Amino acid sequence: MREYDAIVIGTGQSGPSMARRLVAAGQKVAVIERKFFGGTCVNSGCTPTKTLVASAYAAHLARRSSDFGVTIDAVKVDMKAVKARKDTVAGASRRSVERSLKTLAGCTVYEGHGRFVGQKTVAIGDLELRADWILINVGGRAAIPPIPVLDQVPYFTNSSIMDVDFVPPHLIVLGGSYIGLEFAQMYRRFGSDVTVIEAAPRLIVREDEDVSRSVTEFLMEESIAVHVASNVTEVEKRGNGVNVKIESAGQISQITGTHILVSIGRRPNTDDLGLDNAGVAVDSRGFIEVDDQLRTNVPGIWATGDCNGRGGFTHTSYNDFEIVAANVLDNDQRRVTDRITAYALYTDPPLGRVGMTESKVRRTGRPALISTMAMEDVSRAYEKGETRGFMKILVDRDSKLIVGASLLGLAGDEVVHSILDLMYARAPYTVLQRAMHIHPTVSEFLPTMMQDLRPLQ
Ligand SMILES: Cc1cc2nc3c(=O)[nH]c(=O)nc-3n(C[C@H](O)[C@H](O)[C@H](O)COP(=O)(O)OP(=O)(O)OC[C@H]3O[C@@H](n4cnc5c(N)ncnc54)[C@H](O)[C@@H]3O)c2cc1C
Repeated sequence: MREYDAIVIGTGQSGPSMARRLVAAGQKVAVIERKFFGGTCVNSGCTPTKTLVASAYAAHLARRSSDFGVTIDAVKVDMKAVKARKDTVAGASRRSVERSLKTLAGCTVYEGHGRFVGQKTVAIGDLELRADWILINVGGRAAIPPIPVLDQVPYFTNSSIMDVDFVPPHLIVLGGSYIGLEFAQMYRRFGSDVTVIEAAPRLIVREDEDVSRSVTEFLMEESIAVHVASNVTEVEKRGNGVNVKIESAGQISQITGTHILVSIGRRPNTDDLGLDNAGVAVDSRGFIEVDDQLRTNVPGIWATGDCNGRGGFTHTSYNDFEIVAANVLDNDQRRVTDRITAYALYTDPPLGRVGMTESKVRRTGRPALISTMAMEDVSRAYEKGETRGFMKILVDRDSKLIVGASLLGLAGDEVVHSILDLMYARAPYTVLQRAMHIHPTVSEFLPTMMQDLRPLQ
């Protein structure tokens, strides 16, 4: 039995930062990682996907080069080079996390699967570590649906597709939400035929209908086949490929492709963590139950990141770390409910989202104002030849506070932060209305949009 002041299980987006803070506070810390340092974001999530999205964008722009008066004779995607670039970028991040932990004085790194064997004891194989304070940052993995014979057919998840160094002739993407759509557009641009199958009545069903429609339109413009309201009933191997049976409005049809990507959601890595041995409570989907400051039901055990079901993003996991560190080390009672929903979808163009959707604002029944602008009317987008999408901002009529925005268009993932910061400042929209922004940018139209608010009917 080895004694520590604190144990951190998992090196996702909160564990390493928490270890550093604890060590800086003079504590003796153990960190346990069973696979790749840096977790999902660094190895099979944000970093590699956005690196691949960048390659796909380069291919797309090269094919469109004549729109800009530039001639490129033949555009060829070298997938081995695309993968090598992705590996270089992701590998650098992984090694940086690993090196920073292994060279951190006061921190001991254990490589292996950590499992609770008691409230204060975690085992890695035969070795047992004990601490009064434990952080669980074990993340999640792709959920696999119970489709008949899917287990007998080779398929990719967001992790295994990271090893692909060829262009799949026809990729069938099961799941038309955030992760699935990024891969769908990226592989179409690499040269695959791509079919997306989604059970919900529309793509990215949590977004407003106009956002969903616009995304579907630009994906279909790139010749991505989209099947919504379609349930996969069976998958079978067919020669070198796969055959997927779908049921839609009582009709059965079949799609034959060469490869499948399963992206229908994520599940937490809590099933093999021995949580029962520690008495840590989980909900019906396996997420660890936490309070507003991220304590579990067991004193001294805290849970951050995807495993607590309170976020699902890298920035929410990092914000979880900040909340735990503030409460545990800084006597600052930060809370999860202090944060404002914010995320992006990294299709091209991207979607930047903050706060409530329009449909959610409508459901609240509050008097609200709305302003919309087509990206076709944004001069910078016009100049860059990237005019797809639109921007939409919602304001509470009485308080004058912005309550939500969906920016689907060029740089929407960046521009949205102007609105996010205003929301954190609890400043009325009139502040943005009177701000002078730089021309020509996408952001310069935010003040203009604030001059053009109308009642939400
Ligand atoms: C394809 C894809 C794209 C994404 N893109 C974005 C994006 O653009 N922006 C964004 O904000 N988010 C994105 N996400 C989500 C983001 O990656 C995750 O929300 C984030 O990585 C969650 O981090 P985490 O701290 O919960 O833990 P993770 O990063 O999941 O890390 C958990 C770590 O714990 C380790 N572990 C698990 N169990 C044990 C155990 N028992 N013992 C020891 N170690 C263990 C794992 O090996 C892993 O290293 C994406 C996700 C995917 C799948």
